[in-house]
Amino acid sequence: MPLGIISHTDCSAHMMGEFHPEAPARMAAIQDQLVSSGLDFVVRQYDAEPIEKAMLELCHDSEYVDFVFTHSPTEGIFKLDPDTSMSPGTLRAALLAAGAAVDAVDLVMEGEISSAFCATRPPGHHAERNRAMGFCIFNNVAIAAAYAKQKYGLDRIAIVDFDVHHGNGTEDIVLDRQGYLFLSTFQHPFYPFSGTGPTPPHIVNSPLPASADSSVFRHTIEQTWIPELENFRPELLFISAGFDAHWEDEISQVCLEEQDYRWVTDVLKDIADKYSSGRIISVLEGGYALGALGRSVVAHLHGLIGRE
Ligand SMILES: [Zn+2]
Repeated sequence: MPLGIISHTDCSAHMMGEFHPEAPARMAAIQDQLVSSGLDFVVRQYDAEPIEKAMLELCHDSEYVDFVFTHSPTEGIFKLDPDTSMSPGTLRAALLAAGAAVDAVDLVMEGEISSAFCATRPPGHHAERNRAMGFCIFNNVAIAAAYAKQKYGLDRIAIVDFDVHHGNGTEDIVLDRQGYLFLSTFQHPFYPFSGTGPTPPHIVNSPLPASADSSVFRHTIEQTWIPELENFRPELLFISAGFDAHWEDEISQVCLEEQDYRWVTDVLKDIADKYSSGRIISVLEGGYALGALGRSVVAHLHGLIGRE
């Protein structure tokens, strides 16, 4: 079955200022590489639908959701957090980003596609139940996972996060919930400076030193993620796919390469093929060096499609 890519041109209407790294050009960089790699002929492309407001409450407090809706500006910028702002196009982009992940659940669970990549922004993994932070407003991956659990009655959902920043928002949301396994690799100490305290067994944080390279990253995945996933046997696998650990990305010091994103995706696909009928839903998080972002996404997509 084919890979689906779910996106929307209105995700480029969200702007946080001229020099902000989480910029509309990220969407164009991915689309350009998709075309130049020829993958645009191989994948099925879908336009995202905006999520319904009530569904955001699968993971966010209603007061927080109301706050975001109420403060959506008609002009200028409204700051939700020192790094996270809303422009007039932001609310729709955020609803499309969460909506894409939910659409991906239906497409994958109903068997129209085997796996999906949501090329959307704003990202989501720093967004907590009642707080926007770190360029994130709604936690796209956690909302989609909660939706999958509710609609399809899944008992075991794994969310893995290889963004260079800790997925504090996802941890916050799944901390007290049953039936999840959350695995996160991240540079530490580094923004958001979380992920090293005690956690319940279903949350496994793997801090990486700033000097981490391919071999450290791969060793960590082999030693922690694979045994945890083998033990958990997920019925559906989500990926918080951030590409900001790439060596060209100046936001972090960790030095991964495109081939590492292909490698980790191959590893995750093997797990999904074994336990999840191949079902993977990957959602874009970070990645700010535009050339590296486009190439890393293409490497990731080749992994999702499979080895043949
Ligand atoms: Zn990041």
